Amino acid sequence: MEKGFLIVISGFSGAGKGTVVKKLVEKYGYSLSVSATTRAPREGEENGREYYFKTEAEFQNLIDYNGFIEWAQYVDNYYGTPRKFVEKEMAEGRDVILEIEVQGAMNVKQQYPDSIHIFVSAPDVESLKSRLQERGTESEAVIAKRLKRASEEADDMKEYDYIVINDDIESCVDTINSIIVSNKCLKNNNLGFMENIKQELKAL
Ligand code: 5GP
Repeated sequence: MEKGFLIVISGFSGAGKGTVVKKLVEKYGYSLSVSATTRAPREGEENGREYYFKTEAEFQNLIDYNGFIEWAQYVDNYYGTPRKFVEKEMAEGRDVILEIEVQGAMNVKQQYPDSIHIFVSAPDVESLKSRLQERGTESEAVIAKRLKRASEEADDMKEYDYIVINDDIESCVDTINSIIVSNKCLKNNNLGFMENIKQELKAL
């Protein structure tokens, strides 16, 4: 069986990537990795659905036991991608989405050079700010920290394969799906298939 692809989606806080990722799962059936974090749950978030909420000691324990593919610190908290789930899904041929920040994304690129890296941005800074404020889940101080982090992340956008602007959610979701589909058709991602069919035809 062909291994599934790893798809990394990053974006500024407030770019709407959470919604984009949710829709990619619903509409196109991608598998989504649920991360572990030391951040406190926001209202409406459930353990095991949005995140596995961990104490710092639990998180450190997972690091020690090589439980993460990658982990990073983001604005006072730790976030990590559980290894077991991702490896199992990929081995079973499913395409897995990681919704992670830029340091983690770069780490994944080194370990999985075939992974597809997509950066989602809001159309402009004003809409980033207003989405963060309207969401109402963070204090003004945290919003300021997240915007400062966004300015650092802007320098790293160049490390991504694709930049997608989210001004309309549905078209953003469809664009990302098209990117993934075309990547799967790349010659270099079909070397095994090409070789097999060549051999089978020769053997006729
Ligand atoms: P939030 O607190 O808004 O849910 O997430 C903050 C940031 O952490 C976002 O940029 C999100 O993509 C990132 N993030 C979530 N899970 C992970 C993870 O497992 N690893 C890394 N490196 N970043 C993550």
